[in-house]
Amino acid sequence: MESVVVHGKKFNLYLKHEQVIEAIEKMAVKLNEELKDKNPLFIVVLNSAFVFASELITRFNGPCEVTFVKLASYEGTQSTENVREVMGLSEDVTDRTVVFVEDIIDTGLTMLMAKDKIKAAGAKDVKLATLLYKPKAFKHNYYIDYIGIEIPNDFIIGFGLDFDGQARNLRDIYKIEE
Ligand code: 5GP
Repeated sequence: MESVVVHGKKFNLYLKHEQVIEAIEKMAVKLNEELKDKNPLFIVVLNSAFVFASELITRFNGPCEVTFVKLASYEGTQSTENVREVMGLSEDVTDRTVVFVEDIIDTGLTMLMAKDKIKAAGAKDVKLATLLYKPKAFKHNYYIDYIGIEIPNDFIIGFGLDFDGQARNLRDIYKIEE
């Protein structure tokens, strides 16, 4: 599909499924090189990262564990500057290598808060893996270890990413029409 309409707004095809998978494969190569023997704990940030997480983590070849947190900062197409923890973590992260698996880093606030919280809980090393990154929107100053694709500062949907609950099931990624 070249375009889709969701909640009355038009979105145009931006990244084909195959392009996204190619980027994930590259990320997995780096993850395997760096973390194969570290038994990482992958923390998948729900809801949007579930599609990306399954593609990335099934390409990881070493021992690992996977868990989930649910964070929310977006309302509609806008970041709210207010990150809520809707579902917390039950695992002990003391001395663990932790990898946050996030769909997109926009202002960077969500991952800043999540990272600090896990560090304070005693993790040895906290790494960030994001499928998409908006460098022009990023307002913070921390290192992102694994980045799939850098994108402009536009609202996108598909491949797990929603617009008010819809469109997570789209195989490709779509960008809002200006
Ligand atoms: P940040 O805290 O970095 O500003 O925002 C990160 C969160 O905002 C992501 O986990 C994602 O849920 C949401 N988000 C940021 N940009 C977009 C976007 O373009 N589309 C969608 N659907 N969600 C986004």
